[in-house]
Amino acid sequence: MENVIEVNHPVIKSLVTELRDINTKSYVFRKTLNEIARILFIEAMRNEKLINREVEIWIGKGKFPVIDEEKYVFIPILRAGLPMLGGIFEVLKNAQAGFIALKRNEETLESVLYYDRVPPLKNKTAIILDPMVATGGSLDYAIKVIKEKNPERIISLNVVGVPQGLSKISKKHPDVKVYIAQIDEKLNDKGYIIPGIGDAGDRAFNTE
Ligand code: URA
Repeated sequence: MENVIEVNHPVIKSLVTELRDINTKSYVFRKTLNEIARILFIEAMRNEKLINREVEIWIGKGKFPVIDEEKYVFIPILRAGLPMLGGIFEVLKNAQAGFIALKRNEETLESVLYYDRVPPLKNKTAIILDPMVATGGSLDYAIKVIKEKNPERIISLNVVGVPQGLSKISKKHPDVKVYIAQIDEKLNDKGYIIPGIGDAGDRAFNTE
């Protein structure tokens, strides 16, 4: 799983434990997802190329390095990916955002796209935001939908996953770099991650 990077920072591990705690209320759960996403994004940008921009500073005009913000499109997968957006948008204020919603066909158990509001991705870096990588089915499907829009590059930011789902993504999409806060043990027979954080969408939006 060369393209899967587990971010082993003590702050991120502490935040994941906060998500696991069943006493963590919805508001704090969303804030914590937000904070983790920001750290994952900063890690994903570690070796990013900078461009020089002319900036007027206190001693006059000069050229200084910045991230080329307009190149990035953040794509949260609804609904659980939504709380991951705000923290990153605060870092890269002039990026774009697009939205994808998937649902499961209850007969075939396959993901089906039912909302696609992603802007053109030509020459862009698409950054997928999706907290859970369980079987990897929905992330695989989201990557396929995004690849059809021909971005220059795709990065996926995820919070908790299991080897089963991550190796599927790694094999099918070796060109996609995945940054994840925590790789857990396994799935239970209902497809939930063990130990995991429960249902991320329900916990974030108080619908348990
Ligand atoms: N989706 C979730 O929200 N939680 C899991 O454990 C697995 C998939």
